[in-house]
Amino acid sequence: MSTVRPKVVVVGAGFGGLAAAQALKGADVDITMIDKRNHHLFQPLLYQVATASLSPADIAAPIRAILSKNRNTRVLLDRVVGIDSVNGQVLLGSGAPVSYDWLILATGARHSYFGRDDWAEHAPGIKTIEDATAVRRKVLLALERAETETGKARRHALLTFVVIGGGPTGVEMAGAIAELARKAVSRDFRSITPHCSRVILVEGGSRLLAAFPESLSAKAKTQIEKLGVEVMLDARVTAVGPDFVEVGGERIAAHTAIWAAGVQASPAATWLGAEADRAGKVNVGADLRVAGHENVFAIGDTSSCMGPAGRPLPGVAPVAKQQGRFVAEAIKARIAGRKPPAAFRYRDYGNLATIGRRAAVIDFGRIRMSGFAAWLLWSVAHIWFLVGFRSRLAVALTWVWNYLTFARSARLITGEIK
Ligand SMILES: Cc1cc2nc3c(=O)[nH]c(=O)nc-3n(C[C@H](O)[C@H](O)[C@H](O)COP(=O)(O)OP(=O)(O)OC[C@H]3O[C@@H](n4cnc5c(N)ncnc54)[C@H](O)[C@@H]3O)c2cc1C
Repeated sequence: MSTVRPKVVVVGAGFGGLAAAQALKGADVDITMIDKRNHHLFQPLLYQVATASLSPADIAAPIRAILSKNRNTRVLLDRVVGIDSVNGQVLLGSGAPVSYDWLILATGARHSYFGRDDWAEHAPGIKTIEDATAVRRKVLLALERAETETGKARRHALLTFVVIGGGPTGVEMAGAIAELARKAVSRDFRSITPHCSRVILVEGGSRLLAAFPESLSAKAKTQIEKLGVEVMLDARVTAVGPDFVEVGGERIAAHTAIWAAGVQASPAATWLGAEADRAGKVNVGADLRVAGHENVFAIGDTSSCMGPAGRPLPGVAPVAKQQGRFVAEAIKARIAGRKPPAAFRYRDYGNLATIGRRAAVIDFGRIRMSGFAAWLLWSVAHIWFLVGFRSRLAVALTWVWNYLTFARSARLITGEIK
């Protein structure tokens, strides 16, 4: 006699969704994992793809391959466009609706331009492989064009790079561009010298890395300035165009601008008609369920969950992963008739951010570090958490090689030149 097993649908194979699916491996449920992309992406290293240090395949792995050993899991490549919560169905862009008994929404977030979406064209953010390779193309093309440009002002604009947003991504991007534009390329180009390029990091607040203690913010500023990055604090971007960025009304001629400020959640709240915060994140209860939807959980960047200090938990990978494991346990307990865990508790192991290829800042609470030792720790942590043995090995070897030679193995401009 066949028994019908509970159906769990996970939407999004990012950090949260994947952790949930892995924790449900072997459980007495049928899981459907739906993602609009065929790969899981290690976003913390995207900036290295954008600055030609790593290749896309080093930081992404096919979802099907990751979950191939989970016999209770099938993978669908499709875009979720809505949820019919009355009939318990997930609506897809191209396939037939998928029924669920339990639904885990882990669809992440994108960048937000704070109502100025017209800036996106000129100041792209990095969230996907396509974003990162588009930025890589923009940065490398600017260098190529500068090599032959004879007009002084135009050449200056081509060699000016503005990164908007002084959080970890902005600091990492600015540091990596400075190393690429000021050091790595000078060997391969004939007219660009290390001093030709200008990298500017613009932050609206009074310090970089606002989530870190002030002492580490100050160290990060010193370290990034040593790489030649100009840091502008308390500086608001007022306009962005094809070859300029306006900061506080002052125009900076710059061919390349990169957006690293602000996030906007996926439309999960709209699909459910649920309450959301200002960034569109679904408000969830302490057990990560969405109010009014007892069998729907929202986790990671697409949800807003209050932390112990009454502040929402940060949008970082460890929160998403721990929430994924938590909801898997909650579902297993409910199915087994056990009492589910009452409230999600985030274990914060600390914050890390890197500055170029020889410095980082680390905040482990009582232990704070900066400089080269912190960078080594940052490298080990990032390699450790990469999915897949091939990726780990490839990234470790590439970093050692880059470190010794300043080579940029992935310095490829894809697509034709106009
Ligand atoms: C450039 C960058 C650097 C970062 N650096 C760090 C760092 O150093 N440390 C850190 O802890 N965090 C970092 N983060 C944040 C971290 O990556 C996120 O907090 C984390 O990815 C959130 O996990 P998630 O599972 O909620 O969403 P994601 O990992 O974003 O996954 C969402 C998944 O949902 C899928 N999806 C979205 N919409 C749909 C749809 N409609 N239908 C089907 N599938 C859909 C997407 O394709 C994706 O696979 C960084 C983020 C970025 C962008």
